Amino acid sequence: MARCKSILTEARQIECAITLIKLGARLQVLESETDLSYERLLRLYKEVAGHSPSKGQLPFSTDWFMTWQPNIHASLFLNTHEYLNKVAELDEIDTIIKAYQLYLEQIGSQGLEPLLSVTRAWRLVKFVDNGMLTMTCCRKCGGHFVTHPHEIARNYVCGLCEPPARAGKGKAAGSLQLPAQPRAAAHPVHA
Ligand SMILES: [Zn+2]
Repeated sequence: MARCKSILTEARQIECAITLIKLGARLQVLESETDLSYERLLRLYKEVAGHSPSKGQLPFSTDWFMTWQPNIHASLFLNTHEYLNKVAELDEIDTIIKAYQLYLEQIGSQGLEPLLSVTRAWRLVKFVDNGMLTMTCCRKCGGHFVTHPHEIARNYVCGLCEPPARAGKGKAAGSLQLPAQPRAAAHPVHA
């Protein structure tokens, strides 16, 4: 699939970089998705974010996506991303940006804090692209959730249908509903 790099004009790349910075993306995401030089991106980052980018490695592990609440958030984002991928003719990075903005709206409308950062959302799409993660259909609710590629679909039950015991009460991401999955509406929102 095409990236910003090959097809976007410089003006579009800058626009793309600014949007990503505003969403909180790490500098490495910008480096990967645009042809702009490191120095230029650094300047842009400081200008837009008002501070220097954080240093250090990006999260390279798929483990985070497998933990309970993050899995539900990641699945919500990925469902939106897959949907946009099918119906909208967007560049790959624009699909990630749009899906992430919709994820933020969805989370905000349910009064929850976003657990998924835009950098992790971007990583997630890369993990799916290179086959390290995929989505599996829950045999109880029919919703699609982020899993490792070899999850046995007929045995798979998602974290909404079977939250871990420790989930207990409180403001849980477990109360999230995945949109565009008609049967997921069966999950009530416990405020
Ligand atoms: Zn389920």
